[in-house]
Amino acid sequence: MAYSYEAPVSQTLFDRASLVTPGGVNSPVRAFRAVGGTPRFMVSGTGPYLTDADGREYVDLVCSWGPMILGHAHPEVIAAVQDAVARGTSFGTPGEGEVALAEEIVARIEPVEQVRLVSSGTEATMSAIRLARGFTGRAKVVKFAGCYHGHVDALLAAAGSGVATFGLPDTPGVTGAQAGDTIVLPYNDLEAVRAVFAAQPGEIACVITEASPGNMGVVPPLDGFNAGLKEICAADGALYISDEVMTGFRTSKAGWYGIDGVRPDLMTFGKVMGGGFPAAAFGGRADVMAHLAPAGPVYQAGTLSGNPVATAAGLAQLRLLDDAAYAKVDAVSAELRSLVGEAFTKEGVAHTVSAASNMFSVFFTDEPVRDYEDAKKQEAFRFTAFFHSMLEQGVYLPPSAFESWFVSTSHDERAIERIAAALPAAARAASEATA
Ligand code: PLP
Repeated sequence: MAYSYEAPVSQTLFDRASLVTPGGVNSPVRAFRAVGGTPRFMVSGTGPYLTDADGREYVDLVCSWGPMILGHAHPEVIAAVQDAVARGTSFGTPGEGEVALAEEIVARIEPVEQVRLVSSGTEATMSAIRLARGFTGRAKVVKFAGCYHGHVDALLAAAGSGVATFGLPDTPGVTGAQAGDTIVLPYNDLEAVRAVFAAQPGEIACVITEASPGNMGVVPPLDGFNAGLKEICAADGALYISDEVMTGFRTSKAGWYGIDGVRPDLMTFGKVMGGGFPAAAFGGRADVMAHLAPAGPVYQAGTLSGNPVATAAGLAQLRLLDDAAYAKVDAVSAELRSLVGEAFTKEGVAHTVSAASNMFSVFFTDEPVRDYEDAKKQEAFRFTAFFHSMLEQGVYLPPSAFESWFVSTSHDERAIERIAAALPAAARAASEATA
C-alpha cells in the first residue's frame, strides 16, 4: 500500500533504531507491522495531543495503551513527579510514597486487602500466578484464548495483543515444560471451564482472566461469566485471578470490579496506577498475600519496585480520578463511539463498535464477537485503510485491529471535532479497501 504522506524524520529515526534494536522498537506493536508504513516517533504530548518528530500533531486515541487517562503532561502529575525527582530517584529502601499508593489501591478496591507493588503488568501477573501455585500447592493454570497477560512464559499461549496482531500461535523460546501446565479455553465459555475442572479436580491452581478483555479488541464478559468463574474456582479450591492491568482505575473508580462486583481472590494492576511510569501491582486476599516473602515462603522482589518517582506519579493521577473524571471519560467514549458507528453505517461498512465501559474498539463484522475466534473473523484489512486515513488526517489510533482505543479526560470538543472531521473519509477508505 502506498501512502500519500510522509514522515521523513520518523523514517530516519526508525532506520537508526532498526540498526541497534530488533525491529526498531522496544515493544512489537509500535512497529506498525500490522498496518504498514512508518511508525511515528513522538517527541511530546499535551492533553489529548501528540506531536511527532516531523512536527505533525495528532489527536491521541492510544493514550500510551491506557495509562494516560488524564491526557499527556497533566500539570498536577508533572508537579508531583518534579517534586519527587528533586528528592532522589531510587533508594532501595521503603518509602512513604509506596505506602500511600498501596493505601489508595486498598481503599478503592474492596477485595484488595493487601497489595505488592511491582514495575510492569507482566511482573504482576507472573507473580500472582506464582503466588497462586505456592498457596494452593497445585501447578495448572487456566487462561482464555485472546486474553493477554503480559509476556509471561506460561501465559503466552493463545494470547491476544501483539500475539494476535502478528498471528503467532505461540512463541519460540517458551518450552513445553513452561507452557505444559497452561490450559487454554475459549473465552466466555463456562461449559468449557466446568469440563476441565471436572476432568482434573484438585489440580488447577488458578483461573486467570482479563476482567473485561481488551487485547483481542474489546470483548466484554457475557452476563454471569466472571461470577461463574469465581463459583467454579471456589468449589474446587482454585483461585480466581482477575487481571485488571488494563481495566483497573480506568473502567470505573474501582475498575471492572466496580462494575461487576465479582470478588476475585487475587487481582493485577498496571497502566493507570503508574501515571505513565513503570508501576504495577498485584493484591487480594490477606491470607493468600501472607504467603509472599518476607511474610511467607513464595519469593518475589524488585530493585525498582515502589520506585518513589513512579509512585508519586501514580498517586497524583489516582487522586485526580474522582467521579467527575470517570463521567467525563465515559461521555467522551460514548460520543466517539456514536460518531464512529455513524461514519461506518453511512458508508455501508459492516462493523460492530464493541464497548466495555469507556474502553472500545471496532470489529469489521456485524456478527456478534464473543471470543477470539469471532474476533479473528473480522475483515481486518479494512482497518489498515481506515487507520492510515485517520493517521494522515491527524488522528493516532492503535496500529492494530485487535487493540482497544483509549480516551482521556482531556479529550475536549476541539479534539472530538478533529476526529469527527476525519471519520467520513476514513470510513470511505475502509469501505473501498480490498483484502
Ligand atoms: N495484562 C493486561 C490485561 C494487559 O493489557 C497488559 C498489557 O497490555 C499486561 C497484562 C502486561 O502489562 P505490561 O505491558 O505493563 O507488562
